[in-house]
Amino acid sequence: ENREPVEEVRPQSPVKPMTATEVKVNVSIPEAANRAAATGADGVGLLRIEHMILSLGKTPAKYIEDNGENAYVGELIEGIRTVADEFYPRPVRVRTLDAPTDEFRELEGGEGEPAEHNPMLGYRGIRRSLDRPDVFAYELEAFRRLFEMGYDNVEIMFPLVNDAEDVFQAKRLMQEAGIDPEKRKWGVMIETPASALSVGQMAETGIDFASFGTNDLTQYTLAVDRNNENVADRFDELHPAVLRLIGDVIETCREHDIDTSICGQAGSKPEMVRFLVNEGVSSISANIDAVRDVQHEVKRVEQKLLLESVR
Ligand code: PEP
Ligand code: MG
Repeated sequence: ENREPVEEVRPQSPVKPMTATEVKVNVSIPEAANRAAATGADGVGLLRIEHMILSLGKTPAKYIEDNGENAYVGELIEGIRTVADEFYPRPVRVRTLDAPTDEFRELEGGEGEPAEHNPMLGYRGIRRSLDRPDVFAYELEAFRRLFEMGYDNVEIMFPLVNDAEDVFQAKRLMQEAGIDPEKRKWGVMIETPASALSVGQMAETGIDFASFGTNDLTQYTLAVDRNNENVADRFDELHPAVLRLIGDVIETCREHDIDTSICGQAGSKPEMVRFLVNEGVSSISANIDAVRDVQHEVKRVEQKLLLESVR
């Protein structure tokens, strides 16, 4: 994965600046929730469900076989709740399961996973969830119960969608699970060029937000495997083609009153922050250690824009 060190900006004041663009934080594991909340971030831009599942050491099917459905749903509820409690009432955007088959194969019960030639182009993200609505239903059941418990700060995000059809299907499963999409905040990740080019049609589904997963968006736009060291120097989230897709999505989303955000690693980089704030992104989600720098960078860009607008 592309976990590059964050570029140093300038010495920062320890005080959290007020910004119009929200600055959120990515939370990798529930145990990091406390430290993440202490950054003063405006919410969680990405909480990945698969870390809760991978830490069980078993595939969902195997875990359910051994421990029952209730235990599985309970694990998900506890993991999400730890973060939702820590941040309440600040919003926590939870992404549904997005583990590629090669990661699943390492788990107990993963023997039956397809051996894919290219897992990154394969059975992952929403593709798996739509293909196995019976297993996906447990994740949705966890969300339904969290809402019932009063966690109205929890938001649902679907990974690796390509088009409006993917989103309509995911929405229908949400409804079948007893979740009212009109009452909840939910949205998608923009991770493929197809999704970026389809966001106008996706607006018809009623999504509240679109969040840039720049790790994948970069890999798929440039055809550069994000985990291949032979082409690592070609992995450039600031490539003009990637920025063009991002800029166009922000513009389209603004026309449809859909919030835009970034939750890929590039959200922690000052150049990307400058680009996004200039384009009018609604929020930026950064790594815990980068939040304060990003807050200050956002503030600087906003002040500059304000000055330019009155000149
Ligand atoms: C991304 O693709 O940028 C992203 C945030 O998702 P992941 O890194 O989990 O694929
Ligand atoms: Mg991704």
